[in-house]
Amino acid sequence: MPRTKVAQILRETLSGTEVDVRGWVRTKRESKQNFAFLEVNDGSCLANIQVVVDANVPDYAILIKQISTGASVAIIGEVKESLGKGQRVEIHARQLTVLGTSDALTYPLQKKGHSLEFLREKAHLRPRTNTFGAMARVRNSLCATIHDFFQTRGFLYVQTPIITTSDCEGAGQVFQVTTLDLAKLQQFKGPIDYSRDFFGKKAGLTVSGQLEGEIYATALGDVYTFGPTFRAENSNTTRHLAEFWMVEPEMPFYVLEENMDLAESFVRSIVKGVMDRCQADLEFFNERFEPTLLASLQNIVENEFIRLTYTEAIEILEKSGHSFEYPISWGNDMHSEHERYLTEQHFKQPVILTDYPREIKSFYMRCNEDGKTVRAMDVLVPRIGEIIGGSQREERHDALIDRMKECHLDPEDYWWYLELRQYGTVPHSGFGLGLERTVQLVTGMTNIRDCIPFPRTPKSAEF
Ligand code: ATP
Ligand code: MN
Repeated sequence: MPRTKVAQILRETLSGTEVDVRGWVRTKRESKQNFAFLEVNDGSCLANIQVVVDANVPDYAILIKQISTGASVAIIGEVKESLGKGQRVEIHARQLTVLGTSDALTYPLQKKGHSLEFLREKAHLRPRTNTFGAMARVRNSLCATIHDFFQTRGFLYVQTPIITTSDCEGAGQVFQVTTLDLAKLQQFKGPIDYSRDFFGKKAGLTVSGQLEGEIYATALGDVYTFGPTFRAENSNTTRHLAEFWMVEPEMPFYVLEENMDLAESFVRSIVKGVMDRCQADLEFFNERFEPTLLASLQNIVENEFIRLTYTEAIEILEKSGHSFEYPISWGNDMHSEHERYLTEQHFKQPVILTDYPREIKSFYMRCNEDGKTVRAMDVLVPRIGEIIGGSQREERHDALIDRMKECHLDPEDYWWYLELRQYGTVPHSGFGLGLERTVQLVTGMTNIRDCIPFPRTPKSAEF
């Protein structure tokens, strides 16, 4: 008999059909009259299926004793309308198999709820909780809608390398990749000879696929990359991971306004996509973690984002009378608290800020005529702050070289990137969306460590 997922039973109300269901027992309630209720979860949806087991099931007494929270079971039985409260249908077991027992005294997930901090230490078991099951399903749906969004618009999915020899942001947050023997190197003083290293030069894990994305965009049209990204930033915040996933579309012939239009419709449609696909999971997050969640997501879907320049935003912040932990003035990078003030207090809406000071942005962003700002755009959302960073790229060869020098980068290191400007250069734009921050946005989870299956942060890479 083919196995049936609980989600399918609940969706289609398969009353009267015989099913084979497998999963993990969340709770067992034994009745004195020789029957028991099992709440079984198979991960396909938030809801458990109630299984009624009675003395007609072979070896009833022995099997029911073996079962406790966490045990894995296989059930063959008939789906029936439930007479009890709390569920529409249940399974009346004809046959029960205990695949794996679970010692009730030592099983780390007890019936009472556990703190998110505790569950982070149990990353091998936390997907068995409602919270992390829901997170995993939401994350999965987000990834699917992200691909849908770009595929239906004719974007090409390009895989960019994880190991690179160019530091895209030039910010020195790169994890080094080497096969040199560190213990041996310690004995020598003087510069390290990278020609002896695996790639013949200093290599690291990618901080962004953008530069390589531009290569394909300037040949094939609209492209996107979607993959793991690594930053050795030693900032223990609730919005930074050392390993995170980033979606980076890159579009030739797009100017900044078109880039903003795409970013806005992208965010709004993936939020809509997840609301359609994961209704029960989002309701759970709304109820358990963030009571404004569904309303705020609805707001994102239904209303246009506010657009203004960095300079205008600074004026608003300065005039706000609000006391910030980090004082704000023109020329400084915004902190999350400033971004959140704009989106939560001032506009009560997502905001796109443009034209940031050139000193605080990367070398590849197109310089404005004013000589002070660049064609950058950040999309800011309530509860998080920056979720997207993007820009129109500098497509003018000589202007790009000037900017590299200004940023203390050696143009020689970027010879192939410069050749894109030498041969058939075009105006082009792109942006990067952090997947985990998007999971934060749509689930209302406050800590980014709870938005990825296995978080990597300073001093933490267990599992
Ligand atoms: P921030 O200023 O918040 O540290 P950033 O400006 O360094 O971010 P970008 O280089 O613009 O980030 O990266 C694009 C997007 O990738 C960000 O808008 C964010 O959604 C995501 N992102 C960046 N760094 C991280 C990180 N360490 N962990 C998780 N997501 C990140
Ligand atoms: Mn950014």
